[in-house]
Amino acid sequence: MSALPVRPELVGKSPYGAPQVPAQHRLNTNENPHPLPDELLADLGAALGAAALGLNRYPDRDAVALRTDLATYLTRSGTPVTAEQVWAANGSNEILQQLSQAFVGAGRTALGFTPSYSMHPLITEATGGTFVDGHRRADFTIDTGAAVAQVRELRPDVVFVTSPNNPTGTAVALETITALHDATDGMVVVDEAYAEFARAATPSALTLLAGRPRLVVSRTMSKAFGMAGLRLGYLAADPAVVDALQLVRLPYHLSSLTQAAARTALAHTDALLATVDAVKHERDRIVDALPGLGLTSVPSDANFVLFGGFADAPAVWRALLDRGVLVRDVGLPGWLRVTAGTAEETDAFLTALGEVVASAHLGDAVASGDLGG
Ligand SMILES: *Cc1c(COP(=O)(O)O)cnc(C)c1O
Repeated sequence: MSALPVRPELVGKSPYGAPQVPAQHRLNTNENPHPLPDELLADLGAALGAAALGLNRYPDRDAVALRTDLATYLTRSGTPVTAEQVWAANGSNEILQQLSQAFVGAGRTALGFTPSYSMHPLITEATGGTFVDGHRRADFTIDTGAAVAQVRELRPDVVFVTSPNNPTGTAVALETITALHDATDGMVVVDEAYAEFARAATPSALTLLAGRPRLVVSRTMSKAFGMAGLRLGYLAADPAVVDALQLVRLPYHLSSLTQAAARTALAHTDALLATVDAVKHERDRIVDALPGLGLTSVPSDANFVLFGGFADAPAVWRALLDRGVLVRDVGLPGWLRVTAGTAEETDAFLTALGEVVASAHLGDAVASGDLGG
């Protein structure tokens, strides 16, 4: 690759890479493991067959019917959202990329609060911008005063806030988001990929959209809806944001098949989201079991748990994989991340983790734990 004339700022960068390692229990990419409902599978077959008849034509470039359905879904949660406020793309990663193309770009800056979603810096840089690392407290919450001070000093064009945050599960208080919005002239993008898993007391930033034209809430069907393979992400914002994205989106970016499949899935929203409570229950089971193993976790509003207390997290990652359980080493010393899924997966994970903790050989890898809050 070094022989090719790639852009100098890309030389030496690593691609996004959740290892796709074969393992009996893959608890590393926050997917929903529950199978799709049979009625949905049947309807998908019919809907895709019908859409196939029109594949000689380009799709609806503006995906109006799909955006209408997405607006209806968001409105269910209590905040009225219109189709003009919604935009959809191939996964929320493409949504984030279009936002970055429109609002960051060459010579401009995005601020995020790490550890957070690794694609925010990668997308910012790939679209020519500079990503600046904000800070979190040792307990992974955002210090609102410090964050506002950074925004005032740096004057970023985009502020990324992930809530609930990946990889920590931490929800961000609405007061923090409004304070950041008030402090900046730039855009505030709240990445809510895990919103459906939030605990009852954790409201969505959708409730803040009215009167805040520079606020964007990004969502996905990859996590709670269990449709990671569909590649469907979307945002809600002021209609002017949707207009701005028309300047950078590729023509006909969302295929007719994707639009048809997503609309069919949304027609089965209740059946798809029926597993969310079960997944939250497994998340809480993991959280509750950890202290008994001498381990700790970060409070989670997502479908995963950042757990730790390890002197050597990579050694524990390997020892779990040796027992058939693949979790994610997110590069935070002392911590690993596990996706909550089925009860069987929780059992397998907790059994394997118990063995690792009990193993004299691995004692040194486990014992540690001053994680500083
Ligand atoms: C998984 C995830 C996404 C999702 O991506 P898709 O492209 O919609 O699959 C976006 N943001 C965060 C924080 C995520 O963890």
